[in-house]
Amino acid sequence: MDSSLSGFYKLPVNERRKKIAELGGLTADEAALLERFGALDEPTADRMIENVIGAFPLPLGIATNFKVNGKDYLVPMAIEEPSVVAAASHGAKIAREFGGFEASADEPIMLGQIQLAGVKKIPEAKKKITAASGSLISLANSCDPVLVKFGGGCRKIEVREVKSKRGTFLVVHLLVNCGDAMGANAVNTMCEKLAPELEKITGGSARLRILTNLAIHRLARAKATFLRCETCTPLIGAILDAWALADADAFRATTHNKGVMNGIDAVVLATGNDWRALEAGAHAYAAITGKYKPLTKFYTDKKGDLVGEIELPVAVGLVGGATKTHPVAKACVKLLGVKSARELACVIASVGLAQNFAALRALAGEGINRGHMELHARNVAIAAGAKGAQIDAVAEKMIREKNVSASRAKELLSG
Ligand code: NAD
Repeated sequence: MDSSLSGFYKLPVNERRKKIAELGGLTADEAALLERFGALDEPTADRMIENVIGAFPLPLGIATNFKVNGKDYLVPMAIEEPSVVAAASHGAKIAREFGGFEASADEPIMLGQIQLAGVKKIPEAKKKITAASGSLISLANSCDPVLVKFGGGCRKIEVREVKSKRGTFLVVHLLVNCGDAMGANAVNTMCEKLAPELEKITGGSARLRILTNLAIHRLARAKATFLRCETCTPLIGAILDAWALADADAFRATTHNKGVMNGIDAVVLATGNDWRALEAGAHAYAAITGKYKPLTKFYTDKKGDLVGEIELPVAVGLVGGATKTHPVAKACVKLLGVKSARELACVIASVGLAQNFAALRALAGEGINRGHMELHARNVAIAAGAKGAQIDAVAEKMIREKNVSASRAKELLSG
């Protein structure tokens, strides 16, 4: 098999699919699965990415109980992992008893970077860039009159010196208000536009011209009370211990933050946003002090009640990228009822906190495996070939027997 597939990208979708099915040895039934585009129709999918042969459906669930800043939300989550939607709903239900989540999001400021190499007189070059910042900002804004019309645009220019293994680079940061867009394309376009001008000003050579996903000016925060002191003291202690381990130990912090991102990624994906951008920003932010830390904090307030807080960069949009091209994403945004990218960021931060609390509560109590395995049992049954009513029957039997495994599912199906 030769994977170079010359000219593959030029083929129509059905011919690509046929070719791949032959090369990959798919049966006719397997190949037919790829033809089922569902709500994301073939022409749309073919314009979204390259070399399209099909669509990949994921379950879409709704997390319930979310009240953020006094408003109720139906939260769409697209995810393949069992128990995430249930856990988010559970965490939100507990927070709701105390009034729900208080959340806030910064102005939607993204940072673009222009790397300049070979600048001879760095202090002088810095001064020249600062002096020219007014005209540079105007030039950046000339790239995107639509963004400016909606109240966004380049706001500020900053200059940094970055020492590297290949000498010192001058790195110019553009601070751009991206309005209701995530802003990557908008910021990248501005960076590319300014690069030749910066070369002229500094005498250096522009190298990279792209935004950073470490969106430190676009943070979202949420806070909620979860447990009452009098009723839950031992559990509160156990949750605080769980958090303290994450705070002290990167091995635990990584998994702690994976739990946070379980919820966040699912909402980001359901709304057509770029979850890799969120992931990159979240983990970089977790390590911003030089040590990888949890994205949430748990502590007790003056009354002894358990309070949780989260803070992370949330660069999401309601326009741009796939948000307006993916029909399901559009329906999800409508369901959610958010009116701005900042409001969406507030919901996303709250979901991350709810998810994390639910995981810590389960881990600090009976462990997550029971709940997880109950949901996982259905996947195991499906993988073993169960269909329709068989799925629940096989899953329930395996749970009762405390033996959730592929081999037991197969035995039950053949028996
Ligand atoms: P975009 O260019 O598709 O849309 C943004 C544009 O929409 C703005 O520039 C503006 O002209 C217009 N617009 C209309 N109404 C607006 C409003 N109310 N507020 C703001 N802008 C409005 O998308 P984008 O948001 O610039 O970029 C997001 C895409 O970039 C995503 O698909 C992402 O995957 C991709 N991307 C990400 C990275 C990264 O994260 N490192 C890099 C490159 C591309």
